[in-house]
Amino acid sequence: MEQHRAVVIGAGIGGLTAAVALHRGGWQVTVLERAADLAPVGAGIGLAPNAQRALDVIGLGDRLRDLAAWQGDGGMRAPGGRWLARTDATAAAARFGGPLVLLHRATLVDILTSALPDGAVRTGAAAALVDPGGDRSPARVATPDGEIEAALVVAADGIRSAARHALFPAHPGPRYAGCTTWRVVVPAPERPFAPHETWGAGRLWGTQPLKDGRIYAYAMAAAPAGGRAPDDEKAELLRLFGDWHHPVPEILAATDPARVLRHDVHHLPDPLPAFHRGRVALLGDAAHAMMPSLGQGGNQAIEDAVVLAHHVGPAADAERSGSAPGPHPAGTAPDFVPSRDLAAYTADRLPRTTAIVRKAARTGAVTLLAARPAVALRSTLVSAVSRFGPGLVLRGFDGIADWRPPVAPARSA
Ligand SMILES: Cc1cc2nc3c(=O)[nH]c(=O)nc-3n(C[C@H](O)[C@H](O)[C@H](O)COP(=O)(O)OP(=O)(O)OC[C@H]3O[C@@H](n4cnc5c(N)ncnc54)[C@H](O)[C@@H]3O)c2cc1C
Repeated sequence: MEQHRAVVIGAGIGGLTAAVALHRGGWQVTVLERAADLAPVGAGIGLAPNAQRALDVIGLGDRLRDLAAWQGDGGMRAPGGRWLARTDATAAAARFGGPLVLLHRATLVDILTSALPDGAVRTGAAAALVDPGGDRSPARVATPDGEIEAALVVAADGIRSAARHALFPAHPGPRYAGCTTWRVVVPAPERPFAPHETWGAGRLWGTQPLKDGRIYAYAMAAAPAGGRAPDDEKAELLRLFGDWHHPVPEILAATDPARVLRHDVHHLPDPLPAFHRGRVALLGDAAHAMMPSLGQGGNQAIEDAVVLAHHVGPAADAERSGSAPGPHPAGTAPDFVPSRDLAAYTADRLPRTTAIVRKAARTGAVTLLAARPAVALRSTLVSAVSRFGPGLVLRGFDGIADWRPPVAPARSA
């Protein structure tokens, strides 16, 4: 077995971040992605200070903050436009040690891939776990070009993870969360607006600016699984949100029906018994898919990646050169022991992500309340509490956005 060969299955945000973190630790990394190219869905993604600090560890935080829009003052509104709770960007940055930033997913994928050596990512390469391996035997992965032996396999193959099913066949897998989402990226409306998330009866709409003059808007509504609009998804959005406050109608007017993304929301409400087996570590949505209500799914995948690289430690060469962060003091115990190091990864990540999956589900349930009296009560409570304690919206992110990685930031790449 090549001692420091790592195979990453899946080139989503989690897999790419893990690949960069391991590469920086001197591992020889191959990323296998079944899609023909790396084009991510045409949507934005919000990264809170927790994920940014993880990206700082691998030297990419400054680049990210350069290319992203920093979220300004905004808050929660009712469909007619009334503000229910205001958020203050300066207070948020002070509370969590940095801003929330928003960028297009394609920009994030570019930042991550540009930190990998040429040829590290193989597209059109569907991979399957053949053997998870153990402390004394390598893991084996089948690829279209034959089998690969690896000292470490990172299974970052998303919510429908075949690797998860192979490792934990008794786990019930993803469950429908009772709602569907829409996402669009369009030029910013002419009339100014503040970033907002607006909660109505059984539905919500959010609008956030990107740095390039466009905006990212997302919507969610309670719906049966597998539903599709009888005409097109723009028409559906107009029916659900067409009479909501500015800038929603202007955004819908600018929307091309062919570019509306609609996805049902599934999550993993039942935690896995572990995030590893043998030499395989599960990461991101494969390990802990969550509702998007806290905007943390990708953030947690990024945290996972950096924590995993910390626990498996640097490859021997990097250890000798002293360039890589890791749990083993230079020259003492550079070798990776899967049963010890991946158990430490599970111990770090499973309780934290389980709590966030649950919180996202609770927040999602409140967001999707549909009965008029419950919605009225929710609005009254949100505005009353936020008047007396302006940190209401922010408080929901305590313990999440203030997370700090186990290693110090690196110099920028
Ligand atoms: C509406 C919505 C809004 C969201 N907003 C946010 C947000 O603002 N902030 C945030 O942090 N998160 C957000 N999320 C969640 C976030 O998108 C996910 O948590 C994140 O993308 C998961 O990344 P991943 O790398 O784990 O998985 P994925 O992105 O699903 O990547 C998995 C990859 O594995 C590949 N793959 C699968 N099987 C194989 C195989 N056998 N061989 C090779 N490759 C394979 C797939 O093709 C895919 O490229 C949102 C989600 C939704 C639905």
